Amino acid sequence: MGLTDRLFRDVIWPMWLRRDDPRTPGYLREIERRRKDAPEIVAARQAVRLRRLACHAVATVPYYRDLFRAARIDPARFTPADLLRLPTLSKTTIRERGDDLISSAYRGEPLISKKTSGSTGVPLRVRIDEAGMAWKRAATLLADEDSGWRRGGAIAKAWGNPEYKQFGWRGWLRNALYERALHLDTLKMDAAAIDRFVDRLIVRRPALLFGHAHSVYLVAHRCRERSIVPPAPAGIITTAMVLHGFERKLIESVFRCPVTNRYGCEEVSLIACECPAHDGLHINVDSVFVEVLAGDRPAAPGQPGDVVITDLSNFAMPLVRYRVGDVARWSAGECACGRAAPRLAAVEGREADYVVTPSGHYISGISLTENFATLVPGIAQLQIVQEKVDFLRFRIVRAADWAAGAEVALADMVRERFGPATRYECEFTDAIEREPSGKYRFCISHVLADARRGQAA
Ligand SMILES: [Zn+2]
Repeated sequence: MGLTDRLFRDVIWPMWLRRDDPRTPGYLREIERRRKDAPEIVAARQAVRLRRLACHAVATVPYYRDLFRAARIDPARFTPADLLRLPTLSKTTIRERGDDLISSAYRGEPLISKKTSGSTGVPLRVRIDEAGMAWKRAATLLADEDSGWRRGGAIAKAWGNPEYKQFGWRGWLRNALYERALHLDTLKMDAAAIDRFVDRLIVRRPALLFGHAHSVYLVAHRCRERSIVPPAPAGIITTAMVLHGFERKLIESVFRCPVTNRYGCEEVSLIACECPAHDGLHINVDSVFVEVLAGDRPAAPGQPGDVVITDLSNFAMPLVRYRVGDVARWSAGECACGRAAPRLAAVEGREADYVVTPSGHYISGISLTENFATLVPGIAQLQIVQEKVDFLRFRIVRAADWAAGAEVALADMVRERFGPATRYECEFTDAIEREPSGKYRFCISHVLADARRGQAA
């Protein structure tokens, strides 16, 4: 670490962390200390926090008071097992109830507002109290450092809408002195923009490369295409979307640095993150309680299910059993790193990213796209859209080596995965458009989206 980095780490960062919230340095020490705790201690602490949240929610939010009463649950005796007796909280409910979900204990308090349209397209706003936000930031910062990066080191971000630009000169100053981030705006990404970003990576040699999994992949892909060997950062963090195996492989090979994959969302911040062992994502146990549900029962290790979150660190707008809209699987066994926090083996995608076969089987869109994209030759990019249960649309960006053989391979794979009754159409395009947030969706199932809308109504 050079002199400049040390100046940022030892002088400017501590100042800025305290300026953001004076509680942050203490929270950082506390979360770091807790990582060494045994599994029983971690579980006991979560149970205590959960009971405290339940008591607070029932006492200060009429919505929860009614739910607990209907389920005949005494919040003072609440245990994690009682969660299953409460209904889950949908995005639609949050949108419709809005400020009704804010705790009366926080009326008139300054709250942080997080807006998202999430993966289901339901725009919603979640409010977070300042102490909760400081705690979440501290947990995220420690997870950042698990990648190998250390605070003070410069950052390169492949992300939509650089945030600092919204805050004028103050934002500029914060970026120049604190985040030291150079940006690739993923809302305006083309080959020329990626080339400029790579040129700046070579000059600035940032210590952390951070971004949407696929955006970082595109940067790596472009380097490979141009035979450029960029400087190796100390850490790489991918987030906001599923990281495919082939993407991780290429990113690690081009940047000669392991990828630390992370899972979170705007509403609750960090949910889980890989440790230096890179064998699954440890739950951010002191901030969130995570359930994975197959139907309405807990999923077994390895079984995919819906992610349901109870936010242990936001008391301003309690989220109890919030259906975040993603699908994940638990990992079994202990991690080599020794931390007790349970791990998700993988976050496989959003609900709509699964497809259903005519025979009623679920297929993970992630595995599906990965299979089709890696086994059918000549595909530069692929999006699979399930329009009807027996009709698929393949949106394909062709690579230079696309040939007639590819269409035969595709036909074989459709038959093999979906059975002979499934029809499909290929639509060749120059680019697959991103969602307004800048994220890509590899696999969209209108069939599942419709079914779930029906359930929600
Ligand atoms: Zn670990």
